[in-house]
Amino acid sequence: MNILLTGGAGFIGSHTAVVLLESGHDVVVLDNFSNSKPSVLDRIEAIAGRSCPCENADLLDEAAVRDVFDRHGFDAVVHFAGLKAVGESVEKPLSYYANNLIGTIRLTEAMAEHGVKDLIFSSSATVYRADNPVPYHEDDALGATNPYGRTKVMIEQILRDVCAADPQWSVALLRYFNPIGAHPSGRIGEDPNGIPNNLLPYVSKVAAGELPVIHIFGDDYGTPDGTGVRDYIHVMDLAEGHLLALEYIRERKGAFPFNLGTGKGYSVKEVIAAFERACGRPLPVEIDARRAGDLPIVYANADLARAELGFSAKRDLTEMCADAWRWQQRAWSGQ
Ligand code: NAD
Ligand code: UDP
Repeated sequence: MNILLTGGAGFIGSHTAVVLLESGHDVVVLDNFSNSKPSVLDRIEAIAGRSCPCENADLLDEAAVRDVFDRHGFDAVVHFAGLKAVGESVEKPLSYYANNLIGTIRLTEAMAEHGVKDLIFSSSATVYRADNPVPYHEDDALGATNPYGRTKVMIEQILRDVCAADPQWSVALLRYFNPIGAHPSGRIGEDPNGIPNNLLPYVSKVAAGELPVIHIFGDDYGTPDGTGVRDYIHVMDLAEGHLLALEYIRERKGAFPFNLGTGKGYSVKEVIAAFERACGRPLPVEIDARRAGDLPIVYANADLARAELGFSAKRDLTEMCADAWRWQQRAWSGQ
């Protein structure tokens, strides 16, 4: 297949590009580099040993998106492009609604015009209403608590409506849990701008000496060690999930939500301990207040993806931390 990856220069997109190229598919990346760098394309090509053409375009630019579709015969699209910082979405809701919603609508219109109706969408565990019992199941009630999460709930609904209106569409709504880690080569990984919001990139930067101390947001939750529990999944497992989802939707029509997680939760303290083993030294920590809006425990019921896609995460927390640390050391040394 010839597959368009919107946001393909970003964290999850770059790893998925490698997996798709290595499995023999052709890949075109479309990115505006608002949260990534063009140099990642060279590293994708070096790892995969194949070329990965890139279109420097913004999804909000209707003419540019149409032009990209005019020049490439795509068979399917994986739509990663979007803004993703929860806190920023509270401060700048209109940027999030404009970029994520209008970007998706422009993309979907261009796809329809060009007869491309197979789509994988990057959704999130954040679409689940906070009062659902864990583990979250695909049938659980939806409802997010911040503008970022609401864009994901709304886009899922828009795509379901598109499938209902035109039975030729086939859409996978992949609800990612907490992707971490990096490609084992250490050549691509997560490269957030500024001070990271998420736990793993923050811990990596403390280990690299770029930040002084890890702040643990609360140790008084009703969890075994009192710290928050999440379902961390290796980004390479997640990337491989996209290949399985593409194969799945080729054979079916409709909208299909899937959790992509491991089905297992780790606490903040367990993650820090695993990272300490990876980097070989103790890391400074400080217990802070709970972060507003955080839930005590979030993890996936991973049964549906296993049964339908044949998906199961293979890499454990040790490997996630080892790969994240290898990437951090390379990124730090200017690679
Ligand atoms: P990322 O920021 O690394 O990648 C997103 C890419 O999209 C970036 O390269 C950015 O430059 C590009 N982009 C943004 N707006 C664009 C636009 N209008 N036009 C063209 N390109 C645009 O993020 P990521 O972690 O790789 O996440 C990918 C997707 O997965 C996002 O939709 C995100 O919401 C979703 N997701 C991520 C996580 C996570 O923890 N990383 C969890 C759940 C869901
Ligand atoms: N967390 C923390 N310190 C940080 C960042 C996160 O203690 O600097 C905790 C957070 O409270 C949550 C877990 O780590 O329990 C994962 O947070 P992250 O922001 O990575 O993911 P999300 O909250 O989106 O699941």
